[in-house]
Amino acid sequence: MRRISILGATGSIGQSTIDLIRRDIASYDVIALTGGRNVDQLARDAIELGAKLAVTCEPALFGALKDRLAGTGIEAAAGDVAVAEAASRPAEWIMSAIVGAAGLVPGMEAIRQGGTLALANKETLVAAGPLVMAATRDHNARILPVDSEHSAVFQALVGEDIEAVERIIITASGGALRDWPFERLARATVADASTHPNWAMGQRITIDSASMFNKALELIETREFFGVDPAQIEVVIHPESLVHALVGFRDGALMAHVGASDMRHAIGFALNWPERRELPVARLDLAKIGTLTFRAPDPQRYPALRLAQSVMEAGGQSGAAFNAAKEIALDAFIAGRIGFLDMAGFVEDVLDKMWSSDGLNRAANSLDDILETDRLARRRASDLIAISA
Ligand code: NDP
Ligand code: MG
Repeated sequence: MRRISILGATGSIGQSTIDLIRRDIASYDVIALTGGRNVDQLARDAIELGAKLAVTCEPALFGALKDRLAGTGIEAAAGDVAVAEAASRPAEWIMSAIVGAAGLVPGMEAIRQGGTLALANKETLVAAGPLVMAATRDHNARILPVDSEHSAVFQALVGEDIEAVERIIITASGGALRDWPFERLARATVADASTHPNWAMGQRITIDSASMFNKALELIETREFFGVDPAQIEVVIHPESLVHALVGFRDGALMAHVGASDMRHAIGFALNWPERRELPVARLDLAKIGTLTFRAPDPQRYPALRLAQSVMEAGGQSGAAFNAAKEIALDAFIAGRIGFLDMAGFVEDVLDKMWSSDGLNRAANSLDDILETDRLARRRASDLIAISA
């Protein structure tokens, strides 16, 4: 039996992972499930999957979780430290599907115990790519990408030499507001930005898809994961979301990964790797689909993409600040305190300030440096947003 854990089990990726595990439960020994506010779901899944440990990151919900697990023999715990401890328990395969920078410390703990980390939490690589990749080597661990674009690139590279890669093209649906006139975007509400045309995902990544902050994070994730130059990575808008990424080689060939918009493909690929097993995802009828379309993203509409290029060029701890400032701007948008188009402006102001006075280009020596930069960027973003209100 394969020992596995799922961090962020109650979320969109976590639930899709459980859907796959449930179909073949006899093959898995579930060590730990972690969640947040949704302790009902967490307890239900822990009982169904026979997990040894269930952890909520919310200390106030410890009692509620413990009550729901009473008499089952499943250990309950709560708080960030308990989530990280759960991640450090030995397992062959750990899904990293917490949302935001909160996934960084648990992900690093999982890497240190030396198994395979299935990485949905892109923030881990955006904030601390070089440290995470070094820890992976030092601890004989392995990271497999779960973000659909990165899974697609990974699959297109099987059997290929990374030296022969000329460029990597990741696709973007354009998100919920893709077809809105630019003038209307400033007035987009949280509800407007929260309905994705093709993918069912958590609310935060859905809004990040509409602003393309998600794609901006993915550009940085591509650079950190595959070690290519920023100039080799491109974004193309592909409204059908069926081609997930393409890899261009020096002989001019483009290898595309095509499949249904269903995260269970990328999750299942990481779960079954290096084998390919049957997965419950739709098979595409290309004749019925007929047309696949592509277009260049409009830089005025998606300033996040330009910011990502600046972040990659500046290097050091810029990714950590970029992600943290973005999380605060997103919180403020969700709370109705700033407009949809204001998010990028605040993130850019935080980066400019930190590049000029906080030595953001310096490489991090440890995770503590990254966490300090994350805190500082959050404080700077909160201050700027408060002043503007
Ligand atoms: P969700 O918001 O649906 O789920 C997030 C999970 O993290 C939930 O289990 C939540 O608990 C838990 N959580 C929330 N805050 C914290 C915290 N501070 N500490 C510990 N756990 C916490 O997110 P998604 O599943 O959509 O996304 C998860 C990650 O995967 C993100 O990094 C996202 O960018 C990435 N990703 C997602 C894709 C998708 O299709 N959804 C596609 C590609 C990447 P609870 O809900 O119980 O409060
Ligand atoms: Mg993606």
